[in-house]
Amino acid sequence: MEAFRKQVREAFPLLQRQVHGKPLAYFDNAATTQKPQAVLDAVDNYYRQTNSNVHRGVHALSQEATEAYEQARKTVQNFLHAAHSHEIIFTRGTTEAVNLVAQGFGKSVFQEGDEIICSVMEHHSNIVPWQLAGADKKLRIRVIPVNERGEADMESYASLFNEKTKLVAITQASNVLGSITPLKEIIRIAHSHSVPVLADGAQGVKCCLTDVQELDCDFYCFSGHKIYAPMGIGVLYGKEKWLEKLPPYQGGGDMIQHVGFDKTTFNSLPFKFEAGTPNVAGAIGLQAALQWVENIGQEKLIRAEEELTAYATKQLQQLPGLRIWGTSARKAAVISFTLGHHHPTDVGTLIDFMGIAVRTGHHCCQPLMDVLGIPGTVRASFAAYNTQEETDRMLSALQTAQQMLG
Ligand code: PLP
Repeated sequence: MEAFRKQVREAFPLLQRQVHGKPLAYFDNAATTQKPQAVLDAVDNYYRQTNSNVHRGVHALSQEATEAYEQARKTVQNFLHAAHSHEIIFTRGTTEAVNLVAQGFGKSVFQEGDEIICSVMEHHSNIVPWQLAGADKKLRIRVIPVNERGEADMESYASLFNEKTKLVAITQASNVLGSITPLKEIIRIAHSHSVPVLADGAQGVKCCLTDVQELDCDFYCFSGHKIYAPMGIGVLYGKEKWLEKLPPYQGGGDMIQHVGFDKTTFNSLPFKFEAGTPNVAGAIGLQAALQWVENIGQEKLIRAEEELTAYATKQLQQLPGLRIWGTSARKAAVISFTLGHHHPTDVGTLIDFMGIAVRTGHHCCQPLMDVLGIPGTVRASFAAYNTQEETDRMLSALQTAQQMLG
């Protein structure tokens, strides 16, 4: 697989650059992935050849742009195995997708004293939108704990439902612990209580083969930039019946059928949720990224990441005082660790000077950090273009950092 990873790597121009005079080893893929040439070309080509506003033009460019944009929607539909392309809403990313659903539930579903269920390992973007949307209804968030390996405690989960439960909002994979949640079982249990489920696929979209119909999830969100696509484009998948039920998120052009000063009627799906000029180049870049993934084979890319994660885990365990947070049986390509009592920021800063890019801090998961009793971790997260050679370099950089920190 190392040869395969090296071959994948060649498609990513940025990985050729140096940082602080050293070759770059980029291990911050859970924050954002680098972009392959195919994605750079698709965006560049769009702006050179097609750029025009969509849906409202009769001229050739506008029609071409509209066709390309709607084709991108179909590519996402096929990638997620959604039943209809109008169940795919383009958003800025996972954060906006969760906010869209949260605001809709706040206006049309939540009643005073209602509850939702989240896990303790949620990213802030799957906590705060619910707090904002539910504040005036005194929405209560009930929390699924994790066991010592960082896996969702399914017994506790099953015990959290009652007649006030209106939604389960849970991650497909933790960006800190790496734990891949048993989404299908989580959804089955929720549905047995007639409760819908929103899955945060920000991390899961790259490391899991996702079939929203097979999962039977009601909402699924992801960000393009975490699966080799540009920033500023993401997706909300919603079952048709739910998207029909929820009110529009923002008002503006394209989301209306007819506007009058007394009354406005709204466009059909998916346009009801896409107010204003969309990120057409982003959608085309996302399409190119998903096609790039599919042409290589997502399963193969996942295997390359998994194998490297296992290799890096073994390497890191050699370091005295290193503790890995999150040892779930099913794990995304994420390793969070602490190194003795050294502050994660000191460790991350030192190895950056050796060309090793990792993320440090709470990773937008402060409630999880509180439960773990730590201020933060160092997080190395992998993509299919990372190599064993690079992880070997990370290990020796960490050894040097350890010596320097004493
Ligand atoms: N959810 C998880 C699990 C994440 O890891 C992230 C980003 O790191 C997000 C949500 C938010 O994604 P974005 O900032 O792209 O909207």
